Amino acid sequence: MRLDKLLANMGYGTRKEVKQLLKQKGVTVDGAVVRDSSLHVDPDLQDISVFGEKVEYMEFIYLMMNKPPGVVSATEDNVDRTVIDLLDPLAQHFKPFPVGRLDKDTEGLLLITNDGQLAHNLLSPKKHVPKTYYAKIEGEVTQLDIEAFSRGVELDDGYMTKPGELVILSSGSHSEIELTIQEGKFHQVKRMFESVGKKVTYLKRLSMGGLKLDEQLNLGDYRELTEEELNSLI
Ligand code: URA
Repeated sequence: MRLDKLLANMGYGTRKEVKQLLKQKGVTVDGAVVRDSSLHVDPDLQDISVFGEKVEYMEFIYLMMNKPPGVVSATEDNVDRTVIDLLDPLAQHFKPFPVGRLDKDTEGLLLITNDGQLAHNLLSPKKHVPKTYYAKIEGEVTQLDIEAFSRGVELDDGYMTKPGELVILSSGSHSEIELTIQEGKFHQVKRMFESVGKKVTYLKRLSMGGLKLDEQLNLGDYRELTEEELNSLI
């Protein structure tokens, strides 16, 4: 990879700014000052430093966000703020995107990465990656709903869902539940409850495969996945 591209990708500025760094003799490759921005380097084999600080090159970035309500899980939007707008410029350099979608009003676990292969694997319907949601429901959720969800329910467009595991946390005129589903149809949780005549009034994703929402993250905050968390996904 070209040296200027690598440094720009790692957040050392635009390619023009990186050229200035090189001019200032701020960049060394294996200890030797380099001024040629087009030099091809291999970050796995060579030591690259900027003003004496080693550049830790990463190709992929893996972030866990606690998505707040009111932002859309997309990379760009003409009207609303996106989850990518919430990232700092360094993270944005990696051109990450959200893996799958949460509705604008849904909160909770959102994986954001630039690893297309991982995203593809997690979203593939064949992989049946389970996702668990916490929800508040208007109406009394009952054993009958547990049974209906465990068989699969018919959505408004005639689609029959795969079995979902419904756990009632509290039940009354307003109920609280956890639901685990293995698919990701548009508005799936809300539509599953609609199919049994109930309304989701609050929705938060708790987990996706082996990855659990870090409850220390405030709404809108994010952090890199640990090695262990990443391994739980691949
Ligand atoms: N199901 C929904 O209805 N909305 C979401 O955001 C996620 C799952």
